[in-house]
Amino acid sequence: MNYQSTRGAIFADEAEAILRGIAADGGLFVDPSLGERPFDWRRCLTLSATEMQSMILSHLLPGIPDMDALVRRAYAGKFETEDLTPLVKAGGDYVLELFRGPTAAFKDVALSMLPQLVAAAKEKRGETGQTVVLTATSGDTGKAALEGFRDVAGTRIFVFFPHGGVSAIQRAQMVTQEGANVTVCAVRGNFDDCQTGVKRAFAALAGDEAIRARGQELTSANSINIGRLAPQLVYYFLAYARLAESGRLCVGDPVDYVVPTGNFGDILAGWMAKRLGLPVGKLVCASNANRVLTDFFRSGVYDRRRDFYRTDSPSMDILVSSNLERLLFYVSGGDCALVRRCMEALAQEGFYRFPDELMERLRAEFSAYCCTDAEGAEEIGRLWREEGYLCDPHTAVAARAARQYREESGTDAPLVILSTASPYKFPAAVLAALGGSAEGDEFAETDALASLTGVPVPRSLSALRGKAERHGDVIGVGEIIPYIQHKLSEDR
Ligand SMILES: *Cc1c(COP(=O)(O)O)cnc(C)c1O
Repeated sequence: MNYQSTRGAIFADEAEAILRGIAADGGLFVDPSLGERPFDWRRCLTLSATEMQSMILSHLLPGIPDMDALVRRAYAGKFETEDLTPLVKAGGDYVLELFRGPTAAFKDVALSMLPQLVAAAKEKRGETGQTVVLTATSGDTGKAALEGFRDVAGTRIFVFFPHGGVSAIQRAQMVTQEGANVTVCAVRGNFDDCQTGVKRAFAALAGDEAIRARGQELTSANSINIGRLAPQLVYYFLAYARLAESGRLCVGDPVDYVVPTGNFGDILAGWMAKRLGLPVGKLVCASNANRVLTDFFRSGVYDRRRDFYRTDSPSMDILVSSNLERLLFYVSGGDCALVRRCMEALAQEGFYRFPDELMERLRAEFSAYCCTDAEGAEEIGRLWREEGYLCDPHTAVAARAARQYREESGTDAPLVILSTASPYKFPAAVLAALGGSAEGDEFAETDALASLTGVPVPRSLSALRGKAERHGDVIGVGEIIPYIQHKLSEDR
């Protein structure tokens, strides 16, 4: 029983934690002994990307057998480079490109791995039924989950997206999805309607006799699942290893990382890598206009009672960053009662104050910055003009935070900026930031951006134009539950 809930005495082994996703008391599963068991991080740095991933996951999820084979199956032939996440130089800083996977979003690294972990966890626990993944998406998560789960034995995936509410490219990515076990469906409504509909479906279908009789079990591919968090530590090791190889640092020197943050999964993985021994210096938390985390790190008060902004970096438009709960658990030395009080206050009153002495500990390891869309656009333009580096609006938020952090801290340690999406995922905002424009849809904007910059379009995105649409269903919010019931009854 390596895992426990952040909120109290609920224990699980790794396999159960992966399959359940969230603990019965609403807490997240954590390994309280993280960083206490020996981990040879220096040896880890000498490995290839996939070997590194396997070594890290074997350490975090020791009960899951055959990790080498799972990792091979997850990544073989799917990413643009052997390195999974290449490190490139942009001016004085380094950019770790996390978007070189099958859907050009950083979620690919974890969502390629999660289905393999789910399959292995089921085998370990002797669960033979079909795992049904239900996902509501505002764009990026749905496609990455579809690619990860497609044709994985024993799994079935549904993705619901808002009709008319995703970009033309994101829609094309989803409705052309191949695979025998995938269903993609547009819902008349906005993202919140989709999300609410899917949450209702979870509740309503948990007791569905027909579904149970067929041995089908519902689950979610959300980032609170430890099976989606654990595969993200590898980014930090990979960047460090490449810097060491290039002679930019000696193994043991600290490296600072700047992370464009939404649900706090990516940056928490960096903190976990540090617990495993990796010489991580500061972790810089970068937010857009939804600056709830910036305010938290500065004031010690987490307050979601504020306006929600739709920004050019939509994957970071979030007011409740779920994975912060895991950090509160660790930094308080596993004080479940404190974590539970904070989370209850957040749910009921909309805010909590974290104790000053613990905030001091957090501030020793984290810095936080935020910026507006206009400031992000300025950063895209500056990076392109001055460094010849083209970045997307999420990465721009981090790049700006990196400059502010460097100025304020005066550090001359190497700085790694995590880049979470291809600029061609958001061609309209990037083109506008460079002063360009195009007539027509997003594909026209993609062409204009490519001819303006000469930066190649990722193959997975350029290939979309010729692909047949396979998923044309459009339903009302109220039809989600019968739709799932009907599709599942056709399966067996
Ligand atoms: C999901 C996402 C993020 C936020 O990552 P978290 O782990 O939720 O903090 C940032 N950028 C892009 C492009 C994303 O898709």
